[in-house]
Amino acid sequence: MIIDLRSDTVTKPTPEMLDFMSRAEVGDDVYKEDPTVNELEERLSNLFGMDQGLFFPSGSMANQAAIKLHTQPGEQLICDKWAHVYNYEGGGVSFNSGVSCKLIDGHMGMMNAQQVEEAINPPDFYHSPLTSLVAVENTTNKGGGACYDFAELERIKKICDIHGLKYHMDGARIMNALVAKNEDPTSYGRIFDTISVCLSKGLGAPMGTVLLGTNEAMANAMRVRKVLGGGMRQVGYVAAAGIYALDNHIERLAEDHQRALEIALVLKGQDYVKEVEPTETNIVIFYLENHVQQEKFMEDLLKQNIKISDMGQGKLRIVTHLDYTQQMHEYFLEVLGDYEP
Ligand SMILES: *Cc1c(COP(=O)(O)O)cnc(C)c1O
Repeated sequence: MIIDLRSDTVTKPTPEMLDFMSRAEVGDDVYKEDPTVNELEERLSNLFGMDQGLFFPSGSMANQAAIKLHTQPGEQLICDKWAHVYNYEGGGVSFNSGVSCKLIDGHMGMMNAQQVEEAINPPDFYHSPLTSLVAVENTTNKGGGACYDFAELERIKKICDIHGLKYHMDGARIMNALVAKNEDPTSYGRIFDTISVCLSKGLGAPMGTVLLGTNEAMANAMRVRKVLGGGMRQVGYVAAAGIYALDNHIERLAEDHQRALEIALVLKGQDYVKEVEPTETNIVIFYLENHVQQEKFMEDLLKQNIKISDMGQGKLRIVTHLDYTQQMHEYFLEVLGDYEP
């Protein structure tokens, strides 16, 4: 049996989730006639106190739709240099919306309000692209699962209001942040124009992201989703997995966070590890000592049935999730403790 710690996307639906999915009531969602999809969208928009939700097949498509809704071709959005929307969505920002990104050199994938304000192009200076959107990520992926301080997100919101910018949150792992910091989702719903919430990461659904937003922001969302090819039919079977996850897989994220913390602690005690980044949620990022060969380390782990991720530039990533059990955890900690390069 393989212990796969490359990502929290590798989970498979539990038997209970599959059973719940198979009993879903469905309809044609392009006509908005799938009761289960409608229920999922409403559950999430109520949870965050936002006007509307719209179900998308993937997180990338939901983020890309949000960017399209908030911008016109030629404009510019502001995001951290590690942002998923910039690094991992296939260049969709320029492909789909014809906009560019002003990249911020933030801290663990997070920007602060001053950096955002300084990155705004003066709107009357017609030589530079018009800044129209700020996109933050919470928790950060490449930033190692770090969570924004909510007060900083509020300060950025103020800057957006002053300068007439829209405000989007890539909340692929927002549930991890809410659990880790014991925060209220409605406070997020109050400050953002749109939020994407992924169901196929830590929540363990096989696919799906819901884009939440204000009525104003979402006015054209159905059309944009259609253009991107995301209009689906009897997709309530999949939405049901999201509903099941909201009911059963949120509180347990605390276990993933605890195990990630324990992994980070064991790594910190090893001679072969140079550095472990602060671990707040379910992602552990660490670096090996210079004399330890990364490729060999990964191969040696694989020989012991363990897979982790190479993020490039010496960055290694471990992500805990629903299918990583206590038994696997104890075995993995032992392997890390016994390892000799
Ligand atoms: C996974 C992820 C997404 C969505 O990616 P998909 O592969 O389209 O599901 C978006 N943002 C962040 C930060 C992510 O980690």
